Amino acid sequence: MKNTCEVQNFPCLCRILRAMLTSRNLPYFFILLLAISSCKVTKVTDQSQQVPDSLAIRIDTSATKVDTVLTKVQDSVDIRVHRLLKDTLTIIGVGDIMMGTNYPDTRYLPPHQGKHLLAPVDSILQNADVTFGNLEGVILDDGGDPKYCRNPKVCYIFRSPEYMVQHLKDAGFDVLSTANNHAGDFGDPGRKNTMRVLDSLEIHHAGLIARPHASFMIDGMKYGFAAFAPNNGTMSIHDLDQAKRIVHTLDSISDVVIVSFHGGAEGSKYQHVPRKNEIFYGEDRGNVYNFAHTMIDAGADIIFGHGPHVTRAVDVYKNRFIIYSLGNFCTYARFNLRGDNGLAPIVKVFTKSNGEFIKAVVTPVIQRSPGGPAIDHERRVIRKLQELTEKDFPEVPIKIDATGIITYIQD
Ligand SMILES: [Zn+2]
Repeated sequence: MKNTCEVQNFPCLCRILRAMLTSRNLPYFFILLLAISSCKVTKVTDQSQQVPDSLAIRIDTSATKVDTVLTKVQDSVDIRVHRLLKDTLTIIGVGDIMMGTNYPDTRYLPPHQGKHLLAPVDSILQNADVTFGNLEGVILDDGGDPKYCRNPKVCYIFRSPEYMVQHLKDAGFDVLSTANNHAGDFGDPGRKNTMRVLDSLEIHHAGLIARPHASFMIDGMKYGFAAFAPNNGTMSIHDLDQAKRIVHTLDSISDVVIVSFHGGAEGSKYQHVPRKNEIFYGEDRGNVYNFAHTMIDAGADIIFGHGPHVTRAVDVYKNRFIIYSLGNFCTYARFNLRGDNGLAPIVKVFTKSNGEFIKAVVTPVIQRSPGGPAIDHERRVIRKLQELTEKDFPEVPIKIDATGIITYIQD
């Protein structure tokens, strides 16, 4: 044994053993006991074998070497990213969508949870860069704050179950308007849940004050979207300055800006665009002509109008496409689908990469009671569009042929 105690971990033990070896009788044993009692058992650990406790690592920063893998920092770096812009974009618009309501009761829901409601047209809806529609109601399974109705029997407020939204996604919808007279049917719980469900399925949406606009990219192209209506809780169709600011901002960051409005009087008596404010049941439903043109002046590229529940004319202003009403597209039960109320176009707009109008193609659809779109082989809504557009916009150099193709009139 060496002079210095080297029994690892227990140096005091060495001293004890040494004392025992040198003691020959009892008195010396007391000395030994004293030696034991004075001994602090200090565990000396081998630093090289120590496993650090991640919760209690102390780093002596004065001894820590900072890793300075310095790459030469340049004052500025120029990165040029060339986006490959598509020559032609296709943007589909359809009108009002309400796939069935569980309020006041489930009688107004379609069979098979509405799975087949869009099947007759889904291949058409899917065949575009962007597909838009107006979500006319609230997405909520139950509860909410139903809008007050004097007579619940004739109270038309719409609350669609959440599973419906998956059908919209599957059918190809990319973006929906929530600015309309039914978005507030179940108060804030309805608005919030509608936004939550749309977000969860990555369907873009705008129009509620809580979500005034949306921006998104599809196939490398940047789209801006905003929606307006004359109704409480929605972005106002009357506040032109605010709408212009939004559209102008979207225009500065997007290739194409799509603007939706829900405005104008309702019903087949009001299919013409009057170019003035429309008062319906005491409510100012906006001057949709002025609104659409002002939005294009502010930078919008496509205007999709809806609200009258019937189709209205098309227009092209500054090489930008407008339709003043897309009608009832998929409105199950609770809706009048007689005559012109049951006819609607699926409008596929072809634009250049900057949103300039090239042409549009109309697929005529018809809804028969209780609702759901089907191809109208008689193409009734195309004839209606021809008639309305000739009458309301004779100065606009476009023509609509019998198959629904809308082009500039060639000189
Ligand atoms: Zn409406």
